[in-house]
Amino acid sequence: MGRGMNIGPKKFIIIAVCAFLLLSVFTIYMGYSANKDMEKTVTDQFNRQQLILAKKIANNIRNHFSFLETSLRGLNQFWERNVERTEEVRTYVTYSFAFLSGWDVHAIAHLDNEGNAPIILNAQGFTNEKELGINYNTYWQWGVKPENRGKIIIGRTFQPDTGLFKGRWLAIMATPTWRPATPGNGSLKYQFEGLSLIVVDPVGIAQRYARDVRSGETGYAWVIDHKGIFLSHYEETFVGEDSFTVRHKRSPHISYATINEIVRNYLLKGDEGTGWYISEWHRGVIGEMKKLFAYSPIFLSREDDTGNLWSVAVTAPVTEVYGIVQSLVIKQWLVAGVFQLVVFLGLAVSIYFSLRWSRLLQAEVDRNTVDLRRSEAKVRRERDKVKESMRRLVETQEKLIRAERFAAIGEAAAYLSHEIKNPLAAIGGFASQIERSLSEDDDNIRKLQIISEETTRLETLLTDVRDFTRPFKPQKELKDINLSIEETLSLMEDNLKSMGIDYDNFLDDELPPIWFDPEQIKQVLINLIKNAAEAMPEGKITILSRQEDDYIKVSIVDRGAGISTETVEKIFEPFFTTKKRGTGLGLAVCRKIIEDHTGELSVESEDGKGTKFTISLPIEKD
Ligand code: ADP
Ligand code: MG
Repeated sequence: MGRGMNIGPKKFIIIAVCAFLLLSVFTIYMGYSANKDMEKTVTDQFNRQQLILAKKIANNIRNHFSFLETSLRGLNQFWERNVERTEEVRTYVTYSFAFLSGWDVHAIAHLDNEGNAPIILNAQGFTNEKELGINYNTYWQWGVKPENRGKIIIGRTFQPDTGLFKGRWLAIMATPTWRPATPGNGSLKYQFEGLSLIVVDPVGIAQRYARDVRSGETGYAWVIDHKGIFLSHYEETFVGEDSFTVRHKRSPHISYATINEIVRNYLLKGDEGTGWYISEWHRGVIGEMKKLFAYSPIFLSREDDTGNLWSVAVTAPVTEVYGIVQSLVIKQWLVAGVFQLVVFLGLAVSIYFSLRWSRLLQAEVDRNTVDLRRSEAKVRRERDKVKESMRRLVETQEKLIRAERFAAIGEAAAYLSHEIKNPLAAIGGFASQIERSLSEDDDNIRKLQIISEETTRLETLLTDVRDFTRPFKPQKELKDINLSIEETLSLMEDNLKSMGIDYDNFLDDELPPIWFDPEQIKQVLINLIKNAAEAMPEGKITILSRQEDDYIKVSIVDRGAGISTETVEKIFEPFFTTKKRGTGLGLAVCRKIIEDHTGELSVESEDGKGTKFTISLPIEKD
């Protein structure tokens, strides 16, 4: 699969999917962190806006007090000038109260130089001290000190136990009355005449600037005094209550420790800033939520009472902010989603094409492989053919060479034969004649015997040479080869017996008749049987005939000395012999005859055990 490709389709898909997942994780991470960044930025921005709101409220409240200070100063000046003119004073105070009651002033009072309150005016009209239920003592003691001339004090918020304002939250603003007195010597002197004061409504002032403020959709402002008492709150029932306890009283199962800590450590210390805390309540909605929170102080006193400060807080749940960024976040995720989708589609498409491509490639490879195999087989067949014809060529060449050599030898042999034969016959004849003419005990008889033996031998050689070189063309006839074998054996019987050799034959009588030259084949059989007999001093030769496929095979088997592997190569060469009186032409003639019959002569031999020569002759069909 996928041979020749660097990356298989499977591998490619795995890599691509991994890359896609990584990209997804990266995108989600980037989106998430961008969101967090944006949220933080927007949150910070939102809280900064809340802080501006808080500062604005604080500033307004402070300005309100400044206005009241100015008014009180005006009242006091009138008193300084007209303290004896009671009726005028009353008229002026009445007039002033009508105006100041619209600015959260509950009452106007003036203490005389002994600390008694001759003038007290409130909404019910002029009244006496007792009815008001306010203890002025601390203010009078402050005012009587000469160094406080011209100064104004704003008192801490408090709740009288008795009198007209019992249970209400009040704050007193006071300034001492000093009348210039002119003694005889012309120098200006001041005489303490009492204390001008106004009773203000801290809740009214705080609510005037804080109550209706909205931060975002649902955020609101609240104001606490120096002790943490709510002077203004979105929740009306909280007003006048202790901020440290009132929330808890209302929802006991919720912890307000965080916000209480912030109030104690920052707001009541006069700090300004922003922050957040986890709340579980917002405008009656219960549930854990993060609230953003900004705060700013209002300093009500100067040097005398630095602890007298209020604090304004503006708070809104973080969901407010999310509301602002929500559409942005949605858009951002939409963009990320579309991007992911595009990448995913791209991936799917490329996987599809890569698979298709590899399939095409595979098909191409398969086709090529089949073609290749086909042509490979063809080439192999061709090669076998070439090999076969090469073999035949070599064979033919060898045959040709042999034939040529035979031809040359043939000519020489024919000539020699012709020249030698007659003198040889004469020599042999004469020797026999002389031998017969001699007496039996003549010494020369042995010599003459040798002469006739040797001439016989030479005659045999000449016959062999003539047979070997005679240009023979087989005179074929259709005949049972078993008959030729039997004829040969009966011809040789006596000869073999004299050599002490026995024989056995196993002839297949089902053999079909074949075309062969009976004389030539008889010659071959004689040669082979003779060789077998000569290979062993005594023993048995076995002759077999059988059919194998389209061949008739005749084997001559002996139990003689056998032929060594080096020798077996040469035995068919003409004139090769290992015998003292051999000619070395027997096997050469045999092979020539068999080849002329388009047959084959083969040998199997085991050194020391015996030899088997086999003649194969084709059964020609016509
Ligand atoms: P010659 O018989 O004249 O030697 P051949 O051509 O008939 O010539 O045989 C050649 C040689 O082959 C022999 O000399 C012999 O060494 C060997 N040979 C042939 N037939 C046999 C056999 N049956 N057993 C052993 N050796 C044999
Ligand atoms: Mg021989």
